[in-house]
Amino acid sequence: MELDLLVIGSGPGGQRAAIQAAKLGRHVAVAERRDRLGGVSIHTGTIPSKTLRQAVLEQAATRPLDVLDPTRIEETERIAIQQLMDRAAAVVAAETAITREQFRRNRVGLLPGDAVFEDDHTVRVGDEQVRAGRIVIAVGTRPARPSSVAFDDRTIIDSDGLLKLESRVPRTMTVVGAGVIGVEYASMFGLLGTKVTVVDQRDRVLPWLDGEIGEAFQYLLRRNNVTFRLREKVEAVEAVDGRGAKLRLNSGKEILSETVLYATGRQGDTEQLGLASTGLECDKRGRLKVDDQYRTTVPHIFAVGDVAGPPGLASTAMEQGRIAALRAFEQPVEELPELIPVGVYAIPELAMVGRTEEDLTDAAVPYVCGIARWSELARGVITGDRDGMLKLLVSLEDRSVLGVHVLGTGATDLVHVGQAVMASGAGGLDFLVTAVFNYPTFAESYKVAALDAANRIRAIS
Ligand SMILES: Cc1cc2nc3c(=O)[nH]c(=O)nc-3n(C[C@H](O)[C@H](O)[C@H](O)COP(=O)(O)OP(=O)(O)OC[C@H]3O[C@@H](n4cnc5c(N)ncnc54)[C@H](O)[C@@H]3O)c2cc1C
Repeated sequence: MELDLLVIGSGPGGQRAAIQAAKLGRHVAVAERRDRLGGVSIHTGTIPSKTLRQAVLEQAATRPLDVLDPTRIEETERIAIQQLMDRAAAVVAAETAITREQFRRNRVGLLPGDAVFEDDHTVRVGDEQVRAGRIVIAVGTRPARPSSVAFDDRTIIDSDGLLKLESRVPRTMTVVGAGVIGVEYASMFGLLGTKVTVVDQRDRVLPWLDGEIGEAFQYLLRRNNVTFRLREKVEAVEAVDGRGAKLRLNSGKEILSETVLYATGRQGDTEQLGLASTGLECDKRGRLKVDDQYRTTVPHIFAVGDVAGPPGLASTAMEQGRIAALRAFEQPVEELPELIPVGVYAIPELAMVGRTEEDLTDAAVPYVCGIARWSELARGVITGDRDGMLKLLVSLEDRSVLGVHVLGTGATDLVHVGQAVMASGAGGLDFLVTAVFNYPTFAESYKVAALDAANRIRAIS
């Protein structure tokens, strides 16, 4: 088979690369080794985890009524976890169907099977030998499994195994790794009533967060059944018959819990790809080096998404795929923007764009901070979320917005208002001060925070 472009992997990066190339009128196919399209994003990552979060929030709101009958607790617990997993499965199925339809509509060919390079233009996919002028590698990642840990997919699990829990919501859980995936799941199970312990060798949860927001977030998680064991390393973990698994930390502490969830990073899925036949090499985490056009060291082979390294988000993988396809066919295209919002779908939700107070202080950039608290917003009172807050960091030099940090309901949507204002540059603060926002909304927090910042600037000057 001869193609203009072969894309390896049908996750968000591969999808966008293939569809963009097809829209340019190119002959394109996607190789996918799973029996379903959509990659980690649809099957084990973004979509099921965000659906579980939504289902957990809804279940938590009704739980007190469910568990009143003491003779039915076991059954209720089994039904509760089953409902969560069924909900995730239904959304996964719907998203898979949407992806398949998008490929069909755009005339993107599908090649089921493992793609293995034979040379830098030739790839074997199952029984098919494919020759392609250009190739996009979008094979993504899988959870990193330390070799010393005996994963059994029941007691000691990773984020893939978590989606297979079926007997009940564990009463106790230890999460190893306080990164985004670790804290998202810790907060969901905490809300379901699980006593969760999060272990991490760093001294802060998500250390790249603005310090004040990070502290508030950690406090809210603690209030919600989550205990932190920070500056601690796991020395050993072993299953304990019928009771779960025991972790020994290098401080000598031991933690016994029904379930241990490892969330200690991910590994590029490149071992089986036959990269040696192309001359390409990966780093020790299985990732490929690319330039700002997502070109590898072999000019007609591109790599996008998680296999090309940070930030490791579905949102950026999609855009990288689109950019790579346009570059591959010499079409004009901008680079990935510098301003990329980050969302953490924990409970509570978090989002940020731009710089933190710590960054600005280290770089000696003068700024003021304006804050709005959900407890002072009519929408916060109506919704019952009084813990949230929005922080604007504003330049003292030109009144531009340098950073936006949101904690609480709606954070991952709200952050985009700040992103747009930041992109407008100097005077962003004045736009927010004079703008009229719908009332009552959480978006109104921008105006409240902007007025706070403007008052502080006035006071200083
Ligand atoms: C629990 C969890 C939650 C997440 N939440 C979010 C979130 O809220 N927001 C967000 O933006 N991101 C989130 N992410 C990250 C997001 O899922 C990834 O960034 C995204 O899936 C990466 O897309 P990708 O295109 O690089 O590849 P992937 O989605 O990893 O897909 C790669 C595909 O390539 C296929 N493949 C691999 N090797 C071969 C081969 N040799 N031949 C054929 N096919 C092959 C795989 O089967 C897979 O289908 C989350 C991830 C996890 C694990």
